[in-house]
Amino acid sequence: MDVTASSLSPRRVTKQIAVGSVLVGGNAPVSVQSMTTTKTANVEGTLEQIYALAANGADIVRCTCNEQEAAEGLAQIVPRSPVPIVADIHFHVEMALAALEAGVNGLRLNPGNLRKPEEIKLVASEARDRGVPIRIGVNAGSLHPAIYEKFGGATPEALVESARLELAYFEEVGFDDVKISVKASSVATMIAAYRLASETFDHPLHLGVTEAGPPPGGLVKGTAGIATLLAEGIGDTIRYSLTADPVEEARAGRQLLEALGLRERKSLDLIACPSCGRAEVDVIKVASEAQAALANRNLPIQIAVMGCVVNGPGEARHADLGIAAGKKRGHLFIRGEIIRVVKEDEMVQALVEEAEKLVAEGVEARLAARDVNAQKEADADRAELLTLKGSDANNSSARIAQIRRRTEEEGGHK
Ligand code: SF4
Repeated sequence: MDVTASSLSPRRVTKQIAVGSVLVGGNAPVSVQSMTTTKTANVEGTLEQIYALAANGADIVRCTCNEQEAAEGLAQIVPRSPVPIVADIHFHVEMALAALEAGVNGLRLNPGNLRKPEEIKLVASEARDRGVPIRIGVNAGSLHPAIYEKFGGATPEALVESARLELAYFEEVGFDDVKISVKASSVATMIAAYRLASETFDHPLHLGVTEAGPPPGGLVKGTAGIATLLAEGIGDTIRYSLTADPVEEARAGRQLLEALGLRERKSLDLIACPSCGRAEVDVIKVASEAQAALANRNLPIQIAVMGCVVNGPGEARHADLGIAAGKKRGHLFIRGEIIRVVKEDEMVQALVEEAEKLVAEGVEARLAARDVNAQKEADADRAELLTLKGSDANNSSARIAQIRRRTEEEGGHK
């Protein structure tokens, strides 16, 4: 069965805010965020990265605003950016005010680093007057020392308390246009903190595992934390924090939301069987070649690469398109129906050509254009393979018998 948004816990409806043109919270789609790694003062370099992030799935991009030159850069970047820009502020109230002056669509304040109540309230008043939202971005690694001491560490309760105190300052000046994050590099702490935040606040939550590290470990940690919460209906916007080209963060965010059925498919979903004793080709090689050939084609479909024609088309019948390997030939199928049989060395090329046609013409048209002899040829290949290898190509019956014998022998020796 396909996993879709309807299979997840109902999404918790939060108060909606607008980060420029992107709505966050309420019933708005969960959005993807990333952050530039260029110096913000480098306007052209930063814009180039922002365009790359937007093209790969980022709905909102954050840039650091750590010096006057960065704020001046933001004033040029914001009007030319294809997506809303959020300024990341740490220690200096002046930078928050300069970023607002530059016209940013949102601010991120770290309560652990910008600590003076008067300064916090000043920024909130200025943001209120300009209609700019703020993310209260609590981070376990830079928690306010007083809170750290009170809770004996960066516990989930401590992270939520930090956000609550910041929110109280904002409320003193009548500002509530807020989203909240309570990130930690420990996945377990982060999950517990967001669960508690979700019970405590009705503001939208920005999910992330901070300092997750380089892929693949960073991707695993980010996914473990973010997907767990999204499956529970918690979270309105997400960011993977990877030590990698930020384009990887945007792609991962988008792919996660598509995989969970929370965003419409825009990109290719390539699935492949793990291969086994039945495989008639090197599945890893064919899948990698297919991935490389299909990359950057923007085909919003699911494509399967399967190692054998005996089980492949059936196991991947939910895929829009697929190829399964048989006796030096590949069986091309659409939604499990064989449409063409091609030579083994033409499999990838045939897959790419059919993918393009499928997206352009649709399933019905491509099924109607199938080779009328394909099913018969495929049945013959399949029957021949079954005769050659039998229905137990992995020799599992013999293995089971062997295990049983060993267990009985060990039992007898007791
Ligand atoms: S049975 Fe065929 S499709 Fe399934 S894992 Fe093995 S090779 Fe792949």
